[in-house]
Amino acid sequence: MRVLCVAAARPNFMKVKPVVDALEAAGLETVLVHTGQHYDADMSEVFFDDLGLRPPDHHLGVGSGTQAEQAARVMTAFEPLVNKLRPDQLVVVGDVTSTMACALVGAKTGCLVAHVEAGLRSRDWTMPEEINRVVTDRVSDILLAPSPDAVENLRSEGYRVDQIHLVGNVMVDTLLANLDRARQRPVWSGLGVEPGSYGLVTLHRPDNVDDPQQLRTILGALGEIARRMPLVFPVHPRTRSTLDGLGIPDGLSLLPPAGYLDFIALESAAAVVLTDSGGVQEETTVLGVPCLTLRDNTERPITVTEGTNQVVGRNPDSIVSTTFKVLEEGVVKRRPALWDGRAGERIGEVLARAEPGAHRRPTEQL
Ligand code: UDP
Repeated sequence: MRVLCVAAARPNFMKVKPVVDALEAAGLETVLVHTGQHYDADMSEVFFDDLGLRPPDHHLGVGSGTQAEQAARVMTAFEPLVNKLRPDQLVVVGDVTSTMACALVGAKTGCLVAHVEAGLRSRDWTMPEEINRVVTDRVSDILLAPSPDAVENLRSEGYRVDQIHLVGNVMVDTLLANLDRARQRPVWSGLGVEPGSYGLVTLHRPDNVDDPQQLRTILGALGEIARRMPLVFPVHPRTRSTLDGLGIPDGLSLLPPAGYLDFIALESAAAVVLTDSGGVQEETTVLGVPCLTLRDNTERPITVTEGTNQVVGRNPDSIVSTTFKVLEEGVVKRRPALWDGRAGERIGEVLARAEPGAHRRPTEQL
C-alpha cells in the first residue's frame, strides 16, 4: 500500500513526523510531500533537522500568497503528482490551507483521505483555519481525532462512527520524544533570562497581528507584564512586518522564529506562556506550564478543561491581571487521556487496516 503524507507549514512538521515513522514501521510505502507553504529556513528546514524528519520526496514550492492563490497553487501542483503516484491513501495533518487543498485533490482523485487532527472546532468563521478544518473533515474518509471533544463535534455533524478514531495527539508524541534533548540546549545563555523566571510570547493570528492598532494594544499589556518579569518573543514572519512600525516596550526581547528544540526548551522552562497558537496551547498543557490564550475562543477546549490553558481574550487589563494571578497562584497540572506519546502508533494501526473500498459513503445525516 502506498501512502502519501503532506506537510506544508511550521505546525505540520511535528505532526507528520510520528505518522511517517508509524507508517514506515508498519511496512507501508510512505511518500512525503512538502507543499512549500512555509519556505524560510527558520520556518521549515530547521524542523527537518531538529526532528530528524527525512527530506521530502517531492517539494511543490508553492510559496506565499493570498488564501485563494495558495490553495489554487497547491491544488494545481498536487493533482498531477497524485495522478502520477496513484497512492492508496493520502494523509493530511492540521488546519493550514495546504491541508484543505490537498484533501480536496485527494478526494476528487479517489484516494482514501485521512485527516490527522480531525474534529477541532473554534466555531469562529473569521479564522481561515476553521474553514480549512471543516472542509478537510468533510472530504476525508478517515477522521483521526486528538480528543473526545473533537469526536463529539464530528458525531454531532453527522459523521459515521466507523469513520472516527480517537487516537490522541501527535504533537505530544513529538514533544515527549524531543524534550530531554531540547532541555540540554544552552538556549537561555545569551538571552539574559534564567529558567523559570521569564514569560514566553508567540503571536501570529491575523486578528491579533495584521492590524497595527490591535497589536499595539497587546504590546501595551505585554509592556505592563515585562515591568515585572522579562518576556521572550520569537516573532513569526507574519507578525514581523506589523511590529516593525511599532514601539517595543522595555523588557520584551524580540527574537527570530525559534527552531523546534530551542522553542520547546524555552516553553518548558517559562513561568507563563502568552500565545495565540494552537499547538502551543497543547504543548503547555503537557509541560504543565501556565498558558494564556490571547483569543476569544479555542478549538482545543480540552487544554482548558484538562490542562493549563485559559482563554483570556484580547482585553489588555484582563491579559495583565490574569497573568499576575497565574504567576501568584499557579495552575492545576493535568494531561488529557491518550496524550501519551503513542498517537502515531495508533494512527499507523488504523491506516494499515483501512479497506480501500470502504469509503465514499455519505455521512449519516448529511
Ligand atoms: N514553534 C517553534 N518555534 C517558534 C514558535 C512555535 O518551533 O518560534 C512550534 C511550537 O513548539 C509548536 C508549533 O511551532 O510545536 C506551533 O506552530 P504555530 O504556532 O506556528 O501554529 P499553530 O499551532 O497555531 O497552527
